[in-house]
Amino acid sequence: MALLIQGGEIVTAETRTRGDILIEGEKICAIGAGLEAPAGAEAIDATGKLVFPGFIDPHVHIHLPFMATFAKDTHATASRAALVGGTTTFIEMVCPSRSEDALAGYHVWKQKAEGNSACDYAFHMAVTRYDEGTEAQLREIVADGTASFKIFLSYKNFFGVTDEEMFRTLRLAAELGVITTAHCENAELVGQLQQLLLSEGKTGAEWHEPSRPETVEAEGTGRFATFLEATGATGYVVHLSCAPALRAAVEAKLRGVKLYVESVLPHFLLDKSYAERGGVEGMKYIMSPPLRHERNLPVLWTALQAGMIDAVGTDHCPFDQEQKRLGEQAFTQIPNGIPGIEDRVNLMYTYGVKRGRLDVHRFVDALSTRPAKIFGLFPRKGTIAVGSDADVVVYDPAYRGRISAARQLTNNDYNGFEGVAIEGRPAVVTVRGKVQAREGAFVGEAGRGRFLRRTPNGGAQGVE
Ligand SMILES: [Zn+2]
Repeated sequence: MALLIQGGEIVTAETRTRGDILIEGEKICAIGAGLEAPAGAEAIDATGKLVFPGFIDPHVHIHLPFMATFAKDTHATASRAALVGGTTTFIEMVCPSRSEDALAGYHVWKQKAEGNSACDYAFHMAVTRYDEGTEAQLREIVADGTASFKIFLSYKNFFGVTDEEMFRTLRLAAELGVITTAHCENAELVGQLQQLLLSEGKTGAEWHEPSRPETVEAEGTGRFATFLEATGATGYVVHLSCAPALRAAVEAKLRGVKLYVESVLPHFLLDKSYAERGGVEGMKYIMSPPLRHERNLPVLWTALQAGMIDAVGTDHCPFDQEQKRLGEQAFTQIPNGIPGIEDRVNLMYTYGVKRGRLDVHRFVDALSTRPAKIFGLFPRKGTIAVGSDADVVVYDPAYRGRISAARQLTNNDYNGFEGVAIEGRPAVVTVRGKVQAREGAFVGEAGRGRFLRRTPNGGAQGVE
């Protein structure tokens, strides 16, 4: 059925115009003023609303065996949560452990998602080991349409790669023209500091941040950039959390290293005092890199507005309170992660756009357009244009509400933003021309989501 979205303010990364959008089948087929509705079309009144391209979360974990347990969401629950929050595409990290086979892991993840996601999705392939067999497998995975890698400089002996493996991965990435995303912390230093703190009886959640201080992240970021420079590969720092790491990334950008930067929702809004609350209250806020000293928050906002931080993801990774309690005896045993897929758009709109920290076009760019460009989804995704997929968010800036775990669709028993006010919410969300969410409720077709095959884009050249 055709859809006609009428009278909204259509806001892209570049333009803002009042007009109508006609959707036929899965594509946007016309944009203009006073478009006629074809017979049988459903009209959606967008008067007083903003009309955004569907948002893209470039960094989520759904199926995730980690730290002796599993993250809580399934593709069904996470995709519904994404949709009510305005996210119509996510890119999930495929994370087999070092002891597992890359290709076998890739197929496990693909099968988990297939037929279960209500929104579209793609994958980043984590390279957690690089030996004789790895290269052929990675070539096969890229040929299958997964044109980005992920490496961990942290989590030694589990997900983490050695410098030699990083070098070999980046050489292959450069040859294939795929981009490599990286978790940048110095694994050796984290391991040593953890043992030191535990040996001093410092076992609570408040010691998580001191075990991976800002300098450890800055070192990882700088080293990743050096390896990119030496191999000619293109990189993307995930979840950059603090000013020293940002400085390392910007310095690399200035000397011509092909490097993009992502920060994630929690680091814009929360600081380390949350993790310093006692007991499970603090454990809820354990993630890596950790929440930082509050002095970093305004730096991240400024860098986001300036485009030094390219993209905003979530690192969505829900563990419930019982799982968090696995770390009651030692902070090193707390499963790392916090949910966010449902709340990213509303919180960044409220505390970014509404508070004057973030221009509305940069907001669209960082949460949709630039991730689409960097990861080879543009212009199919990431904009409102004739011929693009009809992923549209009709956004109600007059909505007022509060975040509540009791009402969330994410499968978790807490929300790190419990009670936080939001000023705006998606009124209607479409995925390839079908209404999938309305006013905070999932109303669509389960399993509608499709795997998005991507071709290597030469390492995101021409993103600007
Ligand atoms: Zn992650």
